Amino acid sequence: MDYLAGLNPQQRAAVENTQGPAMIVAGAGSGKTRVITYRVAHLIEKGVDAFNILVLTFTNKASKDMRERISKVVGPEAKNLWMGTFHSVFAKILRVEAEKIGYPSNFTIYDTDDSKSLIRAILREMQLDDKLYNANFVYNRISSAKNNLVSHVEYMQSAEIQAEDLSNKRPMLGVIYETYTKRCFKAGAMDFDDLLFKTNVLLKNHPDVLNKYQQKFKYLMVDEYQDTNFSQYTIVKKLAAAYQNICVVGDDAQSIYGFRGANIQNILNFEKDYPDLKVYKLEQNYRSTQNIVEVANSIIANNKNQLEKNVFSENESGDRIKVSRAFTDNEEGKIVAEAIVQDRSSNGLNYNDFAILYRTNAQSRAMEEALRKLSVPYKIYGGLSFYQRKEIKDLIAYFRLTFNPSDEEAIKRVINYPRRGLGDTTVDKIIVAADQHNITMWKVIQDPQKYIAGRIANQLNDFAMLIKSFQAESKKLDAYETALYISQHSGILKELHTDDSIEGRSRYENIQELLNGIKEFAEREDIEDRSLAIFMQDIALLTNDDREDDKLKDTVSMMTIHSAKGLEFKNVFVVGLEENLFPSQMSLNSRTDLEEERRLFYVAITRAEKKLTLTYATSRYRWGTLTNCEPSRFISEINAKYLELETVKAPKTSIGSDSFDGERRSWSQQRDSDSFSKPKPSVSGTATSVSARPKNTMLPTAHIPTPGFRPDAANAFQNGMEVEHEKFGFGKIINLEGTLPDVKATVFFQGLGNKQLLLKFAKLRIV
Ligand code: ATP
Ligand code: MG
Repeated sequence: MDYLAGLNPQQRAAVENTQGPAMIVAGAGSGKTRVITYRVAHLIEKGVDAFNILVLTFTNKASKDMRERISKVVGPEAKNLWMGTFHSVFAKILRVEAEKIGYPSNFTIYDTDDSKSLIRAILREMQLDDKLYNANFVYNRISSAKNNLVSHVEYMQSAEIQAEDLSNKRPMLGVIYETYTKRCFKAGAMDFDDLLFKTNVLLKNHPDVLNKYQQKFKYLMVDEYQDTNFSQYTIVKKLAAAYQNICVVGDDAQSIYGFRGANIQNILNFEKDYPDLKVYKLEQNYRSTQNIVEVANSIIANNKNQLEKNVFSENESGDRIKVSRAFTDNEEGKIVAEAIVQDRSSNGLNYNDFAILYRTNAQSRAMEEALRKLSVPYKIYGGLSFYQRKEIKDLIAYFRLTFNPSDEEAIKRVINYPRRGLGDTTVDKIIVAADQHNITMWKVIQDPQKYIAGRIANQLNDFAMLIKSFQAESKKLDAYETALYISQHSGILKELHTDDSIEGRSRYENIQELLNGIKEFAEREDIEDRSLAIFMQDIALLTNDDREDDKLKDTVSMMTIHSAKGLEFKNVFVVGLEENLFPSQMSLNSRTDLEEERRLFYVAITRAEKKLTLTYATSRYRWGTLTNCEPSRFISEINAKYLELETVKAPKTSIGSDSFDGERRSWSQQRDSDSFSKPKPSVSGTATSVSARPKNTMLPTAHIPTPGFRPDAANAFQNGMEVEHEKFGFGKIINLEGTLPDVKATVFFQGLGNKQLLLKFAKLRIV
């Protein structure tokens, strides 16, 4: 079995020991995922039926990659593995078992938008202040209750929770939760958290079902175990109870979903749950250069809460970590784009070898713009999914209604799209009537004369007939023909066709693309049921990463750090390393949050195999205003010996060029602001004219005489001034002593700490 040759002794032990509980907690890049992959292959090679193996991964992409690798060892058997994210695997099980918990098997999955829209509707109906009961807040509160397996009944009964809500002046949260749950149920819909919550309900209340899946999944494996929440933990524990063949792998240093209820205790509890647990240690990092591994180790050492780990690399020591400073976010994009172009051509790399990672999705804009300017192809992962686009969601809402006409959010979405005289007032009336009679909206729509007064009965009848005709056609036609029929007869295709704007055309093309996708699906030979209902089933769970079409394209990958978990790239840029952005502003209030943010940084840098670049801008647009930024504390936590500080020359663009338009405008708008004022320099001259410039404004230096250091200007330097040194990069003067011409400065350089410099030799430049 030569696949075992690709494992070190510890990895091999973990792969070969297939019986009983096992856990691997080890640092990034040490081969945890590889162990799971080979372990599955090994089980199958040993004769275990692939149908009896369940592997839970963090993303659909991860499971797809893993399945491909396994099939290289075991062949087509790999197809029969149960493998996917928690949500997709348990959605699949719930489809089979839904009726046992009172749901139709064709239940709709509400995505976050649907959930929030329903919450907003409920808030309106209850006439609650939508600032106090902000929909996002309510959504998160309900989500966290579900992920901790607190039902709406338990929520209302818990004195502790009630007291908490009361002290936060939001006593109605329990009632909202209850109404939300009932409305989802009536609509035959589950939200994302329900896919886990209801699985727990199912396994708890139906011992026969639990037994069935315990027998089915004789072997369980979970990757990225550190990011499971209580709801996921409980499912795994229940399923593994009969055979205890459970193997989990994770890294406490990479736990980055605490904000969403992931509980690192799940790792620590594992030993208690399974007393005869075997623990494996992996210490060698195979992914990254020594420098990168050491930087990662030194960063995470700043966290107090962590399990002791030793991670080393035997790879080459590699380049130092590059730190680049930019003046603006646009400039930052340019630096990254240029570096990619240059590195690709000088080192013969592919675009695929590069990844740009950021803290928040909003940062992608400046990067995209810069990449486009240089014609660098890129793909944004985890961004707005194709299936989240408005036009696609509209058409899909019609599909949803065809298979589940109780779906309230789908009705609201398309009852008046394209327009047919059924506006908000009508929808409100339908909702009220449905509520009064305790029936679904669909029931009201089918029999409007009975439930609603007014002159809209005809239109409602027409709408009901339309949906019924879709239902009838779907029984006769294949998936593609049904989809085409619906897109034509709903009026959506025509509506988009008449829109001649560029956006309108692209929306029309997107619909065509969806139809093409369905056609492909309808022609697949490897699945039995190729109906539109099946195509539709878990569309809400798909992300941007799941589309096949551009799999083979050579593109730079762009994503948030959260989406980059488990992945690796030759050359990684982590951008936006600024205080209040990364670490994020919200994390600065508590040690727990800051440590999670630091773990996120650890995840980011450990994605890199060969080369790592960190960038920051001294100003960027945030929430519509130009904001000054300080470099992230994370940069200064890195031992300077690993760093190569690169100063980006101020852009030479002349005033009036496009790229500086924004900055000039904002400068003139903001010049009175206090934060821009600088201490008045004591000496006049060239240095003065520069240092008098407001801090961090983006006036191109081409228009400002750049001072080289002249000894007679030494007294232009003052405490607190920001300076640039040829070798050490940017720093801040924290002390000056001595008299001219022998003034000695203590300068703090990011990442390097304090340096003492004799001004007459140091060639400092005031920035
Ligand atoms: P992360 O914590 O980031 O998820 P991981 O511990 O899951 O990392 P893997 O992704 O499994 O690590 O492995 C990292 C890289 O090292 C992969 O490219 C993998 O193929 C390689 N690798 C792992 N073990 C070995 C080995 N024994 N020999 C050669 N390469 C290995
Ligand atoms: Mg992994």
